[in-house]
Amino acid sequence: MPVREKSTEQPILKDWRIVHRHYDPEDEGRREALFALGNGYLVSRAAAPESTEDAIHYPGTYRVGCYNRLQTTIEDKEVENESLVNLPNWLPLGFRINGSSWFSIDRVEILEYEQELNMEHAVLERRIHFKDEEGRQTKLVERRFVSMALPNLMGLQLELEACNWSGLLEIRSALDGKIRNNNVDRYAPFNKQHLKTISARRIADDCLELVSCTLQSSIEIALTARTRLWMADRRVHAERKTDADENSITEYLRVAVESGAVVQIEKIAALFTSKDKTIADCREAARKVINDAPDFNELFAEHCKAWEQLWTYCKLYTNAAEQLPYFRLHMFQIMQNISRHTTELDVGIPPSGWQGEEYHGHIFWDELFIFPFLAYRFPTTARAMLLYRYRRLDEARKLAKKAGYEGAMFPWRSASTGREETPLLQYNLYSGHWMKDDTYLQHHIGSIIAYSVANYVEVTDDQLFLAEYGAEMILEIARFWASKASYNPSRKRYEIRGVVGPDEHHTRYPSEHPLAGSNGSVEKAGINNNTYTNVMAAWTLGQAERMYRHLPEQRRQELTRLLNIRNDEPAQWEKMRKNMYLPILEDGTLEQYEGFSQLKEFDHQQFRQVYDDKRIDWVLEANDDSVVNYKIAKQADTSLLLYLFSPEELIGMNQEMGYSISKENLLNTIRYQIGYTANESSLSRVVFAGALANLDPESSWRFFKEAQDIDLSPKEDDDSSEGIHLGAMGGTLGVLQHHYLGIEIISGALVINPVLPPGLKWVKLSLQFRGVSISCEVSPELLTLRSVQDEAKTIMVGHRKLVKELAAGATVIFDIQQDDDE
Ligand code: BGC
Repeated sequence: MPVREKSTEQPILKDWRIVHRHYDPEDEGRREALFALGNGYLVSRAAAPESTEDAIHYPGTYRVGCYNRLQTTIEDKEVENESLVNLPNWLPLGFRINGSSWFSIDRVEILEYEQELNMEHAVLERRIHFKDEEGRQTKLVERRFVSMALPNLMGLQLELEACNWSGLLEIRSALDGKIRNNNVDRYAPFNKQHLKTISARRIADDCLELVSCTLQSSIEIALTARTRLWMADRRVHAERKTDADENSITEYLRVAVESGAVVQIEKIAALFTSKDKTIADCREAARKVINDAPDFNELFAEHCKAWEQLWTYCKLYTNAAEQLPYFRLHMFQIMQNISRHTTELDVGIPPSGWQGEEYHGHIFWDELFIFPFLAYRFPTTARAMLLYRYRRLDEARKLAKKAGYEGAMFPWRSASTGREETPLLQYNLYSGHWMKDDTYLQHHIGSIIAYSVANYVEVTDDQLFLAEYGAEMILEIARFWASKASYNPSRKRYEIRGVVGPDEHHTRYPSEHPLAGSNGSVEKAGINNNTYTNVMAAWTLGQAERMYRHLPEQRRQELTRLLNIRNDEPAQWEKMRKNMYLPILEDGTLEQYEGFSQLKEFDHQQFRQVYDDKRIDWVLEANDDSVVNYKIAKQADTSLLLYLFSPEELIGMNQEMGYSISKENLLNTIRYQIGYTANESSLSRVVFAGALANLDPESSWRFFKEAQDIDLSPKEDDDSSEGIHLGAMGGTLGVLQHHYLGIEIISGALVINPVLPPGLKWVKLSLQFRGVSISCEVSPELLTLRSVQDEAKTIMVGHRKLVKELAAGATVIFDIQQDDDE
């Protein structure tokens, strides 16, 4: 694909709507991803229905968790990628007048244009007033939705007004199976053909069917579509002609139109796969559903009702009117990617949503940012995401064993099976070289899985889940750390060597580095004692020990027997936790990893002057250099600890590990890290926003606003057509929830200690806590908590050290200023 020009038009954000007033071919890819619609079962990109894949447009339909594995020979090696598959395109719907060219947004004179995403009802509209090459003017209004009520159904409606012409309108509606995965430039060298078409046929008067199958995973996909016409609110039974080839089927409809007339064309499509539950055969299911489906408007009304209900769990009001649409967008994106329709699909939380092919749709650790939003609003969905991990626990055990460790070593990237999917090589688009990818050494992902389990259990008090699934995961992850950590007698401390921290730029030591040893050689990757990894490992070991002690006796015995937990293991975990080594510099700053401070300085400004926003690792590699030589981080690393824990908690944890660290040390650590971080990952700014919330609210708010804007700013990111930054989106909601509102759970009570940043004066939102619906309102003076339902159990709520009972239907008010003074 040719390199695209950068675009600059900022969308208009108002209440529930995001609007673009101009068509911009250079920005179309980003809009296709950002305005994609989904329901947690499938996601459909916002590609123009008349378009096919080219340098501007990329239609994409993805069924959540539908992967396929392909091999490619690269530099004499067989490289295997499991990828989210772009499925047959349901959208194709076009028209022409009197046999002239088919309408294409790229070939007409646009008189007016508006594309609007309405997040309240999850509907996308495109309004175009255009003049074609023969001077005919037409007004087109296009609406589409992906049903949240009936997850296999999608609707597309075109409304055409013949402004100054009369003639024969010809419509073509198709199902296109000529599809390959081609959304990501840097994956261009990989094989792209994941699908084969099995059949393409007409199945009813107004209905087409296309059946395809993935080549390796043998998932059958049945797609049906019904196209109907209306004029002046009356159904028009137009003459139809069908045309099919090997991979697609098209039908043509014709109707005579008078000047001023309005024609409505609607296409309802159904998609099923052989992986779906409650069906016997996906073809039969797709046929039946399309047969039973009502018309667009009725389907749309059901869809709106489902969204209205979803939003009742996500109420959010604030004085910060400018911020509100961003909050809504981020919630909207999470809900349309991960919903109750996802719970049965056995999938994890995708970092880029399911609206593109970024990272092949693999699952990383980004749940860390999204999980808190889900747990406090849709706990059943959150639980399902944890079960994705549980079902792959055995695979993680095998990975640990193969690497010579005990317990479970969860893969950095996983897809359907739970095996490690991190590619061995990454293609450097800048140099054209293949670069070794050692990011699989990010074993810290295990601690985040343990953290999410603990978080879920705290929010829901789901002790059964803990006993049946969660405990086993936490224990096995802790055991991995216990076997990975080694005792250094000269330090009298435990160390974790040969890992990669969240900052993926540092996967090894430079060969001349004093700590390089064998790590500096070409074969050996990893760095030692990454502060974040070590603290999280210590935290996991502590959790395991405590949880093991508190498990119901019978389950403890069962797990002891099943997992062969030795008598001395829990005490050993505790010992390791308390004696974990942390690299702390003389001035009390936490070093990112041991030896980082001895790396060469990097001149960011000079780099940017020459290379603009190019990827630093790519540019350096192209120049026979490497990021590992420099003090330059891709993303926030140590600061993550303050995203996950409050300064007080972190200081306490360090104290128990025998380190004395002050708030000032922590602030210096963050500032030091900000100084050398390039924020090349979208996750970075949100981490700094959270980490600074308590310590430097002004800077936190600045980072926060930048993070909020992440996918809305066309200039921001070149890969924005490959997916959205769902992790960062979840992160902004996480910062609001846990840092600015200060929501945490202490001894089973919902405790709220707000630290409102400069831009937030008051916030009101809804939460689910242990089965109780709560409305929470924070202002500089008062914290008001209301138990919304008249029949609910009593829970404990608190502010600072004051804890009170909150009974069904009751309201508890804390005087924040007074409590703060006490
Ligand atoms: C980041 C990872 C992240 C992944 C997916 C990478 O660029 O370095 O931390 O998990 O993107 O969002």
